[in-house]
Amino acid sequence: MENKNAMSKAKAAIVQTVEQAREDLVQLATSIHENPELGFEEFKALDFISGTLEKHGFTVQKGYGGLATSFRADAGSKENGPTVAFLAEYDALNGIGHGCGHNLIAACSTGAFLGLASVVKELPGRVSIIGTPAEEGGAGKVKLLANGAFDDVDFALMMHPSGGGSNLVGRGGRAACTVKVEFQGRGAHSSVPKNGINALSAVINVFNQIDLARPTFDPQDNINGIISNGGTASNIIPAFASCAFCLRADTMKRIEDLIEFIKVCVANAERLTGAKGTVSRDDISAERYPSKPICQAFKDNMAVMGIEMTWPDPKKQYGSSDIGNVSIKIPAIHDYLSITDDKSIQAHTKEYTAASITPQALDVCIKGAKGLAMTGYDILSDRTFQEEILKYHEEQIPEFYKQ
Ligand SMILES: [Zn+2]
Ligand SMILES: [Zn+2]
Repeated sequence: MENKNAMSKAKAAIVQTVEQAREDLVQLATSIHENPELGFEEFKALDFISGTLEKHGFTVQKGYGGLATSFRADAGSKENGPTVAFLAEYDALNGIGHGCGHNLIAACSTGAFLGLASVVKELPGRVSIIGTPAEEGGAGKVKLLANGAFDDVDFALMMHPSGGGSNLVGRGGRAACTVKVEFQGRGAHSSVPKNGINALSAVINVFNQIDLARPTFDPQDNINGIISNGGTASNIIPAFASCAFCLRADTMKRIEDLIEFIKVCVANAERLTGAKGTVSRDDISAERYPSKPICQAFKDNMAVMGIEMTWPDPKKQYGSSDIGNVSIKIPAIHDYLSITDDKSIQAHTKEYTAASITPQALDVCIKGAKGLAMTGYDILSDRTFQEEILKYHEEQIPEFYKQ
């Protein structure tokens, strides 16, 4: 009983700290919103977030994990307990601005860090905030993982804005990857086509092979393609042509199989046409494994904040994010808080950009910061809970991801 009282006292302190920082957090979300920057170019956002953290007495390491626009700050000690990290995103969309609400993610995780840091001295463990650039394209978290930026982190927490009043906890995400194919042929006047090697024919042939094999794919496999360069004039045999495919599947492992299949298609098209093909790919965003025990704790804490969250249908088809790769390595949550009740407003639109800076959105952001900080507290203050989370993670992650 005594312990429970102590816990609610600590949580009250967390809530108070975040509340006291409200003005700074609102200013932070506003500044980032007013200065949208694309992935890996988020230098202003980096300065705004660092400035806020430094104002509250924390030291910020810029350029963390080998990425110029990443950062990290820590509080507490890693000697006697685990590390809970809040992840901040702050990249925007080309021509749309903050149409995915990442300005709110940055302010929310900053607030969560300030909240948990205010009580971390009394806890066995450490709280960190890690800036993860380029979520919208560039898979910053995959690069940070490869550079070891999460090696001393045990739990990763963040929220993502949603809309239409749907507050979703434990939503999954699918694996995805963009693959680019280029063919080099030989140009010729179309009156003497035998002098040329038609690169566009090779591209079209790759599309046809994919369509031919499509009925044999797993039902969850999805390959969508565009021709990004199909030649320059109709009276010239295209010397160069290119296309790009967005691959989605249930697992990163399956994506790798599909990439191998596309390579076979390209090799076949080379043999048929004589054009020389090259295949390149972006980092794969892995499928997501939400940590159910942490999600439940976040749901409970958000209920205290007056926001009811629901568990979505796990079979629904979802988008993809680089948080999936983090969730394979360590227990992670990426839960959704609605910033607008309007069901017609879709993410990645100018309407959503406008919705990402309303008083309602900013208030949800502050509530989310409190909820995330309290959830971090639940983890650091309870070793049994930590063990439960780690056990769930161990059972949840497929064997093929464990060497
Ligand atoms: Zn987003
Ligand atoms: Zn987005």
